[in-house]
Amino acid sequence: MPIYEYQCRNCNRTLQALVMSNKEEKDLKCPNCGGTDLKKLISLVSYHVPEADRLANYDPKAQHGESFFRDSRNIGLHAKWRAKQLGVDLGSTFEEKLDRIRTDPSSVIKDSE
Ligand SMILES: [Zn+2]
Repeated sequence: MPIYEYQCRNCNRTLQALVMSNKEEKDLKCPNCGGTDLKKLISLVSYHVPEADRLANYDPKAQHGESFFRDSRNIGLHAKWRAKQLGVDLGSTFEEKLDRIRTDPSSVIKDSE
């Protein structure tokens, strides 16, 4: 599935979104400032890879480029990879937190204050 990257013209933050229709694209908002003036970054189109595959292909020793760190789906990937290696169950609250960090980081920061 196509995941597009956008840049907010208001705060310059980049975001990624799975966009299935023009209407969905029109409704997109910047998670940082709520801005709706988004520029599509055409060169950085990526395709949905299931997390199990991302984990299986994750190499902790690999040098990661800027695009790796810009991809919010990679947040927590190392922790999950390590937990899997050690046979540790991180539990469902870890998944929930991770989802929130990936989609709405400011809400997690607010909770920890
Ligand atoms: Zn913004």
